[in-house]
Amino acid sequence: MSNPVLTAVAWPYANGPRHIGHVSGFGVPSDVFSRYMRMAGHKVLMVSGTDEHGTPIQVQADNEGSTPRETVDKYARQINGDLQGLGLSYDLFTRTTTGNHYKVVQDLFLGLWKNGYVVEKTQLGAISPSTGRTLPDRYIEGTCPICGYESARGDQCDNCGNQLDPADLKNPRSKINGETPEFVETEHLFLDLPAFTGALGNYLSSRQDWRPNVLKFSLNLLDDLKPRAITRDLDWGVPIPLDGWRDRPMKRFYVWFDAVIGYLSASVEWARRSGNDDAWQEFWTNPDAQGYYFMGKDNIVFHSLIWPSLLLGQNGAGDKGGEPGAFGTLNLPTEVVSSEFLKMSGAKFSTSRGTVIYVHDFLREFGPDSLRYFISVAGPETQDVDFTWEEFVRRVNFELANEWGNLVNRSISMAHKNVGAIPTPTALTAEDEALKAAARDAFGVVGGHLRSSRFKQAASEAMRVVSAANKYLSDQEPWKRKDDPARRDTILHTALQVVADANTLLTPFLPHSAQKVHEALGGKGVWAAQPEVKDVEDLDVPGQINPILTGDYAGEQARWESVPIEAGRPLEKPTPLFTKLDPKLGETGPDWAPVGD
Ligand code: ZN
Repeated sequence: MSNPVLTAVAWPYANGPRHIGHVSGFGVPSDVFSRYMRMAGHKVLMVSGTDEHGTPIQVQADNEGSTPRETVDKYARQINGDLQGLGLSYDLFTRTTTGNHYKVVQDLFLGLWKNGYVVEKTQLGAISPSTGRTLPDRYIEGTCPICGYESARGDQCDNCGNQLDPADLKNPRSKINGETPEFVETEHLFLDLPAFTGALGNYLSSRQDWRPNVLKFSLNLLDDLKPRAITRDLDWGVPIPLDGWRDRPMKRFYVWFDAVIGYLSASVEWARRSGNDDAWQEFWTNPDAQGYYFMGKDNIVFHSLIWPSLLLGQNGAGDKGGEPGAFGTLNLPTEVVSSEFLKMSGAKFSTSRGTVIYVHDFLREFGPDSLRYFISVAGPETQDVDFTWEEFVRRVNFELANEWGNLVNRSISMAHKNVGAIPTPTALTAEDEALKAAARDAFGVVGGHLRSSRFKQAASEAMRVVSAANKYLSDQEPWKRKDDPARRDTILHTALQVVADANTLLTPFLPHSAQKVHEALGGKGVWAAQPEVKDVEDLDVPGQINPILTGDYAGEQARWESVPIEAGRPLEKPTPLFTKLDPKLGETGPDWAPVGD
């Protein structure tokens, strides 16, 4: 019996279409992982959605002269399209503006509140005088009191590197509209983080397989935990379910507080939509279930400290004790898998600076699998990497087209031309046996890497099988065996078996092409299932229509094992799997993302 696996994927803000930097952090890694886990026989629940509250949305709406609601409706739909196009196999990709999410956030909060982990305090906060909304520290700019730099941010000075308090800035001004912020006494709810120091320490020190950066970063923060505000002066967010708070239009939960609870609310929504309201528990309260959380590195603290604290508090497991709340005893993350950044000539991808490559543009021109492959083999798994068109072209031309596409094409073509079907083998030589064994052995090796989120190593080991098969064909020269058809057929059968195995090994990375190879080998039905976008009615708000992503992944055939191919199965003439890119593209980039400006 294998453990149920929750794949929890960071929620993209619904404030713009996704660029390839975003999806290299949370998107592709989480999907490669989930597809593998399903193939290996685990029950997987992969959830996420659009993050639709808070300042990031409010600022975008103000820029566009629209309401937050209009903004999130527009971008939720675009983001669903981006992620669907990439083939990210969410069981449910929903949004944080559902009635279900509001209710789960409030219920989880009440568990924390009853156990005493939330305290009310008054603080001096910056607000915008014209709107009355909280001005977050990083949206305040002014002169650094230490070095005199004129564009210091409220939280830190990028010139001298000192941590700042916005109230210390000289000439403070709002980056949103230039006005001078007002500092006022305002009441907020705080999460008592220090009450979790002990429990978090035990939790983190028992983590063995996390990427070292993630663990070190999180352990460092443990020494100095302070109570943290979980409410804001803002009217766009989840209301606070307490007397004296619930009806105040300018008091809402902080966006990060509601967003991390989305992992649980999306699981509950998935269960409710599946017809078994309790189905989420298998992934959350079952001690054998495992939870893997995928994100970019700027999200680490929220997943390795804040979210575990909310779970511990709901469970009644911090210093103040308490009782499990409405959800019972919830599992903490098994692993926080964080990626570094994909950059563009050293700069962070940024929509405002114009250094941006949108997922939808990329998919339109190159299709999903080349981007999935590039991110898997050359992405920011453990360090920041530069995206270059040159590297992209090289990977597509040499690895996908020359190595993999060519192996598939020439082995199926020869079998088609000579036999018209998968040939029947006779006596196997040592070389035949060795190649087949190499492919079979790769399942354990590649699977081990995937389980541990070592995507680069996993992809290179899978590609090693492809190279071995190409070398085998060049050595065995089946095209020169006209006078010995039995030997020729044995060679072709061996090569096709290894094509089938390599296709299985590459399925988590290249699910769209894997489906094609499955069919080119004479297979029928769904090999690797794809997500679809659906419009569904909100479960709790009659008349509200939400775009969601979901799919029937249980119906797919791909299993993580070598399956003997069937001699005699008819084969058709194959069509090329990957088109080679013009090497000039490496120098110039496409016209919608030209190199060098
Ligand atoms: Zn400074």
